[in-house]
Amino acid sequence: MAANPDTPLFNRTRQAREAEVMLNKLIDEFDDNPASMHYFYDLFRRLFIQGEKVAHPPGAQIGITCIQAPEELIRAVGAIPIRLCNGAYHYDQIGADLMPAKSCSLVKATLGRLHDHEQGVPRVGKLEAIINPSTCDQKKKAGVMMEELGYQVHDLEFPNVKESEPARIYWQRTVRELAVTLQRLTGRRVTRKNLNTAMARTRRAQMAFRALHNLRRKAPSLILGKDVFLITNAYFFDDLERWTSAVEALVAELKQRQQNGFNAAQKKAPRILFTGSPPVFPNLKLPLLIEEAGGVVVADETCSANRMLYDLPAVDEWRVNHMIDALADHYLKPCTCPIFTRNDDRRRRLLDLARDFAADGVVYQAFSGCQVYEMEQRSVARTLQEAGIPMLYVETDYSPDDMGQLSTRIEAFLESIKTRKRQARTQRA
Ligand code: SF4
Ligand code: SF4
Repeated sequence: MAANPDTPLFNRTRQAREAEVMLNKLIDEFDDNPASMHYFYDLFRRLFIQGEKVAHPPGAQIGITCIQAPEELIRAVGAIPIRLCNGAYHYDQIGADLMPAKSCSLVKATLGRLHDHEQGVPRVGKLEAIINPSTCDQKKKAGVMMEELGYQVHDLEFPNVKESEPARIYWQRTVRELAVTLQRLTGRRVTRKNLNTAMARTRRAQMAFRALHNLRRKAPSLILGKDVFLITNAYFFDDLERWTSAVEALVAELKQRQQNGFNAAQKKAPRILFTGSPPVFPNLKLPLLIEEAGGVVVADETCSANRMLYDLPAVDEWRVNHMIDALADHYLKPCTCPIFTRNDDRRRRLLDLARDFAADGVVYQAFSGCQVYEMEQRSVARTLQEAGIPMLYVETDYSPDDMGQLSTRIEAFLESIKTRKRQARTQRA
C-alpha cells in the first residue's frame, strides 16, 4: 500500500474522522475479535483514516457502481474493478447538493465522492472509466452526472424483469457489448484463456466466502456480522488474491474456534437476518447497533455481502461467447435487488436464509428515498409473518442523528424476540 501524496493530512479530514469513529467502535466495543480480522482492521485504517491507496498489479482501474457489472470480464482484460458504492455521511452531504434532497444516501455519497475528487478518487486514484448498470432510477440518472463530472461512463443496460427469455437475451447482448467496450478501453481481447483465468480467480474468492458464510450457520456463533460486513466491504477495492488469502486464514481460525466450543455472541443472543439497502463502510450503524444490543447478525441478503459473492457462474460450453453468456446469466438470475418488477425470488431467498441460519428475526434496512426497497417492505413483511418470523423495518440514512432512536427500537425488537422464545420454551415444557 502506498501513501497518497495528494492528501498528506488526510487523517485530519472529516471523512477520515467519520471512518475512525466507526472503525474504533467495531473493534473496541467487542471482546474476542478474531486475530485474522486484523488484516481487515488494518486495511480499513490505512485506507480510510490514513488515506493510503491499495496496491494492485499494473492495470487500468475501472469503477463499477453496482454488483451487476461482471467483474470477471474486467479482470480478463487485465483491468481492476473498483466498486464505488460509498457509505460516508461526509460524501452524502456533498452529493446532496447534486441530487434531490430525498435521494438515496448511497447514490448521493457515491456521487459526492466522485465530485469532490475529480483529479483522482481518494484511496483509488485515476479511473479509466466507470461502468454504471442501469438498475434503479437513481443509479441510472447518476451515470449522466458522473459523465458531467468528467468521467468516462459506460451505461450497462439492465432489464426490469429477469424471468423472461427476451430479458435474458437482451442482457446477454448488453454483457457482450461490455466485453467490446473493455477491449477498446484496454487494448486487450477477451479470450477463452484470460476469461477462464479471471473466473478461476473470482471463484477461489467466492469459495472462501462460501466457507465463511456456511460457518455462520453454527450455533453458538463463531463470528459477528459487523466483521463479516467489513470483510465483504473490503472486497470492493482490495487486491483479489490478498483478500482471498485473508478470508481463508479467517475460515481456518473459525474452524478452530468451533472445535474449542467458542461463542462470539452472548448466550441466547437473538439471531438476526439482515436485508435491504446495503451496509457500506463507514455506514455500518445498523449492524453495529444490533450487535451492541446483544443480537448477532448471522446472515444477510444484501448486495454489499452475501448477494455479491455467494452465487457461482455455471458454464456449460467453454467457448468465449458461451462463457460471456453464462456470466450474464449468473449476474441476472440470482439477483434479488428490488429493481425488478416482481420480488418472488427475493422473498423465497429470505425464507431459505431464515430457515438455514435459524434466524429468530429479520431487520430490514431501507435508505430514505429508496422507493424500491420501501415499496417491497410490505410484501416481505407479509411473507415473513406467514412463516412466523418477526421483522423490524427501519428507514434510515447516513446521518448519525437517529442512532439513539434506532438503538431503542432495536433493543425493543430483540427483547420481543427473547420473550417469544421464552414463551415457546414454556409451551413446549
Ligand atoms: S441496491 Fe441494487 S441497484 Fe443498488 S447497488 Fe445494490 S444491487 Fe445495485
Ligand atoms: S438502496 Fe435503493 S436507491 Fe439506493 S442504490 Fe439501492 S436500489 Fe438504488
